[in-house]
Amino acid sequence: MIRFHPVDKASRGVSDRRQARVSVNERPTARAHRELAAVLREGDLVIDATAGNGHDTAFLAARVGDSGRVLAFDVQAEAIASSRSRLEGLDLARRVSFIHGSHATLSDHVRPESAAAVVFNLGYLPGGDHALITRAEETVLALGQALVALRAGGLLAIVCYPGHPGGDEESAAVVAWSKPLDNPRFETEIIRREDTLRPAPFLVLVRKI
Ligand code: SAH
Repeated sequence: MIRFHPVDKASRGVSDRRQARVSVNERPTARAHRELAAVLREGDLVIDATAGNGHDTAFLAARVGDSGRVLAFDVQAEAIASSRSRLEGLDLARRVSFIHGSHATLSDHVRPESAAAVVFNLGYLPGGDHALITRAEETVLALGQALVALRAGGLLAIVCYPGHPGGDEESAAVVAWSKPLDNPRFETEIIRREDTLRPAPFLVLVRKI
């Protein structure tokens, strides 16, 4: 039996207090890193589903230590090259396996219940082709696989970018996908500012219990 709870806990107690200690302007990517840092341990397996320019990949590789492993997906060769060179520059590339392919193949690469975290940073590659974006249908497919890949206590972090062509639809699809997950097996939290003139990026967190 699935129990439904309100999803937007940002408007209730815990998250509000946690956020208040930092800054109300904290960017969703910074918040995602803070939440991930609390979960990740040396030796963990983690997935970066959208390597882009490698910022999240680098963060994850630093957290999991020499005995850890990062799998980083991207469909663009340019993004893989950019990420690889960032990781090489930081001397962290040996902790990372780059996969030039879609995150919708995640289940081919990761055993169920094995990953401590999966990170999606949606939208387009900054500095790259803005027409080449993550797409709602494929994203939702990959998110389902990410949930299976997560181990108990694992965290799925999704940064959504409404406000660009395709971005509104994809953001809405992620929110709709996450709602029924707030049941005894998962805990979902949406961290979103409501006071901006234009739609601001926001963070969806799903914890496997
Ligand atoms: N919007 C973020 C960066 C997103 S980068 C920011 O502003 O920082 C998103 C990356 O996802 C891009 O590099 C793109 O190539 C990649 N991508 C798009 N579809 C994908 C898919 N199906 N599988 C894996 N990566 C994908």
